[in-house]
Amino acid sequence: MKICVASGKGGTGKTTVAASLAEVWPRPACVADLDVESPNLHLFVRPTITRTEPVRLEVPRVDRDACDGCRACVDACQFEALAVFEGQAHVFPEMCHGCGGCFRACPKGALRPGERELGVLELGATGRGQRFAAGRQHVGEAMSTPIIGALVREAARPGVDALMDAPPGVSCPAMTAAGAADQILLVAEPTPFGLHDLGLAVAAFAQLARPMAAVINRAGVGDDGVARFLREAGIPILGEIPYDRRWAEAYGRGEPLAAHPEMRARFEALIGALLGRADASPALLGRSAVMRELDAARSGRPQEAGRRTE
Ligand code: SF4
Ligand code: SF4
Repeated sequence: MKICVASGKGGTGKTTVAASLAEVWPRPACVADLDVESPNLHLFVRPTITRTEPVRLEVPRVDRDACDGCRACVDACQFEALAVFEGQAHVFPEMCHGCGGCFRACPKGALRPGERELGVLELGATGRGQRFAAGRQHVGEAMSTPIIGALVREAARPGVDALMDAPPGVSCPAMTAAGAADQILLVAEPTPFGLHDLGLAVAAFAQLARPMAAVINRAGVGDDGVARFLREAGIPILGEIPYDRRWAEAYGRGEPLAAHPEMRARFEALIGALLGRADASPALLGRSAVMRELDAARSGRPQEAGRRTE
């Protein structure tokens, strides 16, 4: 089973939940930090890194003898990564998304494969002996999704569960992470800000058609807007982390909350619920209300009354 712990924004407790799942997960797993811009899961699972691997993107290089400046590659590139000056094509490698379109468009075969290094993978084992994978995007590099894709391939090995800590937000990095999961576990805090960003996350992730469930972090502050929203969206709340100074202090010391007996029981119950959902048939799981709403919108059917997605 591949679980992606995600949220609509940073700071909701995503890594707190991922680290505690890793602390008490009962089966072989790969614990993967997909937040390659600012990874911090390692602070909690204390891995030993045994291997690093660069992640590279294929970018074009121009063969000056073969290029006649026809501009076919410039017209094909959707990312403005090519331009023609003085009768020759020039590449702006940092703009290239590695789509390969220009190679196919060039009638002279004047583009050769080059590469740009985006970051590195750090691979090893957690302090509990689970596999560990994280990525680090190079400073100044804008492309993170190929690094996340490489991490997902590392994490998703047969016979091993994947516990993936997603990047925050709902842009391409988070969608890449969530799209690789069998289940998306949303972490939300019960505040108006939390509700706003949870609404964005649910609307975005619903398009991936993955079962979603939620954990409410800092339960006890704020209001019941998040719980009501989740109920209306048909997304079960599988656990709560109470707002308590002890858990904030444990976080500050880099301790997984599940290392404490009281919280361990909560996370064991959460894992039981996740595994139970994985064993349920798709028909039993059903589709969340948000997914049904999207289906209705796509097919042009009127939406059912009384339902909200934001
Ligand atoms: S590989 Fe794609 S993004 Fe990169 S220069 Fe060619 S067309 Fe543009
Ligand atoms: S399509 Fe090929 S020949 Fe034409 S400008 Fe680009 S690299 Fe040069």
